[in-house]
Amino acid sequence: MNHRTPQQATASDGRANDGGGPTAAVRLEGITHEYGASGGRGRSSGDRTVTALQDVSFDIQAGDIVGLEGPSGSGKSTILHAVTGLLVPTAGTVELLGTDLTELSDRKRTRIRRRHVGIVFQRFHLLPSLSARANVALPLVQAGIPRSTRRERAETLLEQVGLGDRSTHLPGELSGGERQRVAIARALVTDPDIIVADEPTGELDTATGDDVLDLLTDIGRERAVLVASHDDATLSVADRVVTLRDGRVVSNAG
Ligand code: ADP
Ligand code: MG
Repeated sequence: MNHRTPQQATASDGRANDGGGPTAAVRLEGITHEYGASGGRGRSSGDRTVTALQDVSFDIQAGDIVGLEGPSGSGKSTILHAVTGLLVPTAGTVELLGTDLTELSDRKRTRIRRRHVGIVFQRFHLLPSLSARANVALPLVQAGIPRSTRRERAETLLEQVGLGDRSTHLPGELSGGERQRVAIARALVTDPDIIVADEPTGELDTATGDDVLDLLTDIGRERAVLVASHDDATLSVADRVVTLRDGRVVSNAG
């Protein structure tokens, strides 16, 4: 894989780094999120709202793996969704490579996600009717990359995750660990600066989970990785662990 330093995300209205040190790959500043708040940012409506996050702040630099720990319901997935721009928090800023996602239109936010973020889910989210290779190539279709290049790039990524000989297999013909490695190859295929993983070993046995963690460790050498988990083995590959309780950060330790 190529070596690189994080670049300014390319939103036309993206802001420059405020100065002082390198631009963080990810910077969360005072994130609060209420589900069920009517009308989105800044307004809430009565007793149907759930406050999922309260005043959450932390950074991730390129080359860092940050673990996100906390019991079920503590807000881990909500943070990951905010980092991917799939969710705009009720308050606070989410900066990727110096650009505040919360100020962007949906279209620009989506563009930044597609260019700069790779996502790995607990249940893999592979399309069952597509081969491993076609699943890996899918983000390149959205990016408008020609078919022959897509195929070549997907093959390369599958080789990197140790599945070069499985590229034409369907997900149903692969083991859980192999499926998760396909999902990781798919997350990497656009060469993103940031990888977000939600309980990536949650469905795997220990040995298979360890393979996936080795892969995450490799990925984290040059990219920013945010991995949510309540599994000690997963958290042990992190350079730093942010601990959540009831939507608040209670510790952030290396
Ligand atoms: P975790 O990933 O740590 O289990 P989540 O971020 O999924 O936590 O959830 C945080 C809180 O937000 C929980 O109280 C959960 O019930 C609530 N929540 C999550 N998603 C939604 C939603 N779509 N609508 C309403 N409440 C939600
Ligand atoms: Mg979750």
